[in-house]
Amino acid sequence: MRNRVNTIFTFVVFAFLLFGTVGVSAQNSSTKGYDSITEESAREFVYTLADDSFEGREAGLRGGEMAAEYIVSLLEKWGVKPLSESGYYQEFESVKNQMNWITESDMPLDELKAKGCETRIMKNILACIPGKGDGYVVVGAHYDHLGIDTTLVGDQCYNGADDNASGVAAVLQLARAIKKSKVRPERTIVFAFWDGEEKGFLGSRFFVKRTPFLSNISAYMNFDMVGRGAEENPCNLSYIYSAGNPAFGEWLQADVENYKLDLMPFYNASKNLLGGSDNSPFARKGVPIVWYHTEGHSDYHRPSDTADKVNYLNLLEITRAAYLCLLRLANEASY
Ligand SMILES: [Zn+2]
Repeated sequence: MRNRVNTIFTFVVFAFLLFGTVGVSAQNSSTKGYDSITEESAREFVYTLADDSFEGREAGLRGGEMAAEYIVSLLEKWGVKPLSESGYYQEFESVKNQMNWITESDMPLDELKAKGCETRIMKNILACIPGKGDGYVVVGAHYDHLGIDTTLVGDQCYNGADDNASGVAAVLQLARAIKKSKVRPERTIVFAFWDGEEKGFLGSRFFVKRTPFLSNISAYMNFDMVGRGAEENPCNLSYIYSAGNPAFGEWLQADVENYKLDLMPFYNASKNLLGGSDNSPFARKGVPIVWYHTEGHSDYHRPSDTADKVNYLNLLEITRAAYLCLLRLANEASY
């Protein structure tokens, strides 16, 4: 009898230790990811990408190429692998026909090229953390901007700190955070840095048209201009999401409260997410959308959109909120 009691006791202690340890280690991992998101990194990434030396990151030109190399160098350093076996870059050709840019996924470009239209090679950067199943979640921000305009008097470089070095900084931190958490997600998380957004969502359009796993994408999370907020409006985040997925709003409400995030979101559940940014090509295919945005301002699409004007504390809080949302997008059975 005594022996039996001892055995049961030992089993209970053992079970407690085992499950207790698993619980603590899962919590540690997710805390490790969350804690790796810092204001310091946000500053570093935005100041680098919005530096004059990146020449306004215009798609298909030298500055854009430099930005792409910088992003890839960070992904490599953190061990966040490319989505494709052939590497991080998804290249595509675009041709300018009068005022519009057309990519090779829209139509064959030979005729326009023969006419002597300007042609450029652009490139998305696609990295991933593989999941356990065959589902996908895509997290994206465009890294291109407007380049240099030599006809301008004074400052000629469009630094694009808010538009959209801020969004790139958020996606970079998310990639590193998920990697650091060391927890394998249920769905594969694709980290996408789009090219050619300013010329008509060229990179995201190309990806959506060419990706073989489109029907397995459960959600697309977008960042475009997340560097400002709360200038006149009390809301420091415009949280735009598919009206068909009310859970997206409920999650943020709970996270703001539980994690004491310094955010006053404007909850914008939308039935129509067909414009504005790289969410558009995904929304057209019926993929549920989450889009973080901090509204327009007087420096929008001007050379004065510089890194010193970014609200880094707000960018930090938005990135933290997005990390919590991303864990749910990648792991919840349905939403
Ligand atoms: Zn823009």
